[in-house]
Amino acid sequence: MNEYDSDLMARSMIHEGFIRVSDPVEADVILINTCAVRAKPEQKAASFLGRMRVLKNRNPSLILCVTGCMAQKEGYGFIKRFPEIDLVVGPREINRITALLKRVRTGDKVVATDLNDVPSTPAPSPGYFSGKVSGFISVMEGCNNFCAYCIVPYVRGREVSRNPDEIVAEAKDLVADGIKEITLLGQNVIAYHWQDVNFVQLLRLVSEIKGVLRLRFTTSHPKDLSDEIIRCFGTINNLCPHLHLPFQAGSDNVLMRMKRGYTRDHYMNLVRKLRAVRPDMAITSDVMVGFPGESAQDFEMTLDLIGKVRFDGLFSFKYSDRPGTLAAKLPGKIPEDEKRRRLEILQGLQKQISLEKNVQMEGNRLEVLVEGKSRKGNQLTGRTGTNKVVNIDRNIARIGDIIKVTVKQACANCLCA
Ligand code: SAH
Ligand code: SF4
Repeated sequence: MNEYDSDLMARSMIHEGFIRVSDPVEADVILINTCAVRAKPEQKAASFLGRMRVLKNRNPSLILCVTGCMAQKEGYGFIKRFPEIDLVVGPREINRITALLKRVRTGDKVVATDLNDVPSTPAPSPGYFSGKVSGFISVMEGCNNFCAYCIVPYVRGREVSRNPDEIVAEAKDLVADGIKEITLLGQNVIAYHWQDVNFVQLLRLVSEIKGVLRLRFTTSHPKDLSDEIIRCFGTINNLCPHLHLPFQAGSDNVLMRMKRGYTRDHYMNLVRKLRAVRPDMAITSDVMVGFPGESAQDFEMTLDLIGKVRFDGLFSFKYSDRPGTLAAKLPGKIPEDEKRRRLEILQGLQKQISLEKNVQMEGNRLEVLVEGKSRKGNQLTGRTGTNKVVNIDRNIARIGDIIKVTVKQACANCLCA
């Protein structure tokens, strides 16, 4: 989501005549787009901001902006704490970035944190994504769920969906730039609805666009995953057989106190239904350890669920207090050491599962969309429909190709062909 938002701001700035530089030292304007979902990304943004403040002190004409969820959360307090900051923009106002920069250029300090703005279409920017293979489209903003631990509803506002015509036009622009794979984004993307168009109808509209070879969506909330949506994995050809479906905790006790609105059984049932529609379906998830009051037994239930579902991938986090949320006020906080211990056990288990699942694929023939150079640069890298990373010989394909390869070797994080 933040990557999409950063591109949205960059595109409107480029449309107004700004040019991108690769080194912050050369920049006249620096935007730091932040995330507030956990304490760790906030710390990262704060340390980057510290480095950029040094540049501002050396060059007072530099315009320093903080955007995104931390900007929303801190508001004017950011400028009070760090007078080097000129502009603070919350996630719902980023579409006004160029107008706000004009105000700053007249010498004002500006704070724009209205949460009622509706999302708008990015400025036309032909060629912006050329060279890229996969692209994002945010189809809705905000969240109405108020999970007890989560700051998102407070910093991104209430759910609002975009007009499907604009979404389709944006998808066509991406295809014109060479994009082959589109991921529809939303905090709870399957809750999308615009007038009489629901998520399944939107999915069909985008899937029918010529040139969209692969379609994905993220993130889905288990309480909203309907049979109708599950059936799409069997009926829409270019919809990839992968779903990211955060479960957060394996015990009903914790799920209830998290206010997630589903039970462990409900979640397991969804997994069964997904695999019944597509036996090759990859399922990934988010989970956290150390939610206030999480007992040793609760944690065991989480491990048990992971062992039963056997996820293809898992993002795992230590619970951290977010100001203003319900969970921040709950008793029974788990000490940091214990959270770390639980996280290590959980990650060890998942690593073993990922490795076993990947090793099972050795010898299989898989379809890979080639996306770019591998990290070391001597190979190409791409992904399967199930979202597994595959490294391939750079001489057998070009970026943007979909090719069939045989898996020679597997590790926990990727496959080699
Ligand atoms: N909208 C998405 C999640 C967005 S936040 C959804 O509902 O699935 C991404 C992930 O961060 C969450 O799934 C959760 O696992 C984690 N997370 C959110 N708040 C957190 C907190 N206070 N502490 C630790 N992890 C948190
Ligand atoms: Fe946060 Fe829950 Fe909304 Fe996801 S669904 S953004 S976890 S409140």
